[in-house]
Amino acid sequence: KAKKLSGNQFQLYDPNLEDRSLGSVELENDLYKALQNDELTVVYQPKYDAMKSRMFGVEALLRWHRPQKGIMKPKDFIPLAEETGLIIPMGEWILKKACEQGKEWHNQGLDHLSVSVNLSPQQFNQEDLVANVKTILEETDLPAPCLELELTENLIIHNTEKTLRIIHDLKDLGVKISIDDFGTGYSSLGYLKDFPVDTLKIDKTFIDELPDNPNNAAITNTIITLGNSLKLNVLAEGVEKKEQLDYLTDNGCYLIQGYYFSRPLKAEDVIHQIYIR
Ligand code: C2E
Ligand code: MG
Ligand code: MG
Ligand code: MG
Repeated sequence: KAKKLSGNQFQLYDPNLEDRSLGSVELENDLYKALQNDELTVVYQPKYDAMKSRMFGVEALLRWHRPQKGIMKPKDFIPLAEETGLIIPMGEWILKKACEQGKEWHNQGLDHLSVSVNLSPQQFNQEDLVANVKTILEETDLPAPCLELELTENLIIHNTEKTLRIIHDLKDLGVKISIDDFGTGYSSLGYLKDFPVDTLKIDKTFIDELPDNPNNAAITNTIITLGNSLKLNVLAEGVEKKEQLDYLTDNGCYLIQGYYFSRPLKAEDVIHQIYIR
């Protein structure tokens, strides 16, 4: 099975290797066509306030209806989209789409609903990000405080001064900022006092084994306490079970996102899921 290279170097022979690289060329070609061929859609995962038993926002998530292959999830194409730079037009597309949809919900009377959009590091570092967000808000007429941008910690630690300026510029537009997958990055907590963020989203990996895993429980409680002391909202991601929900609400975290309440939905289904049954 192992193929001898030279000297003492060996490489494991992988019969799938050729297929796989062929597959990725095909994937790349298909991905280039996805936007212009209208193959991308957005699903919206509700975020609930368990205290009020009602939805307060939704997160926009990309889906790609790949011809002959079915629905592709972000993990199967976002890395490639980032590598190829395609994430920039895709990111702009979903931002616009989500803001349009947000405005439509407002027009239907759901004017408390906020819409969040994930920003990739590439997008964040784009020169005209702030101008683009501003234009999209103007074009769609969505009130800026109803748009939330989700950033990851790893994005925030790099390039601190420039990052700080961009976040301040975004905040000046009036949009909200949340830190996604909080607790999984390489960040020092120090940045939290400098960056004007609104919400910490506790990563699903910590929520997964609640309430039994004492380490996860300790981390979760620490994040909740930290968020409360800094006057930030704290939301738990990936809540799938009643026991997790109970643990979180018992410990002061009421903002909940996860399959327990709702999977990501088509836009038209959101209005039917506003209240927790
Ligand atoms: P994320 O921003 O942390 O989004 C949460 C992911 O967890 C979503 O997966 C969501 O469907 C999933 N999820 C939510 N609740 C549960 C649960 O209770 N159980 C389980 N097992 N999963 C749950 P999805 O849609 O596959 O997205 C994965 C990641 O892809 C997102 O993680 C985000 O980082 C990225 N992504 C999605 N859409 C976009 C986009 O438009 N732009 C960028 N840059 N990244 C995106
Ligand atoms: Mg997110
Ligand atoms: Mg997340
Ligand atoms: Mg995540």
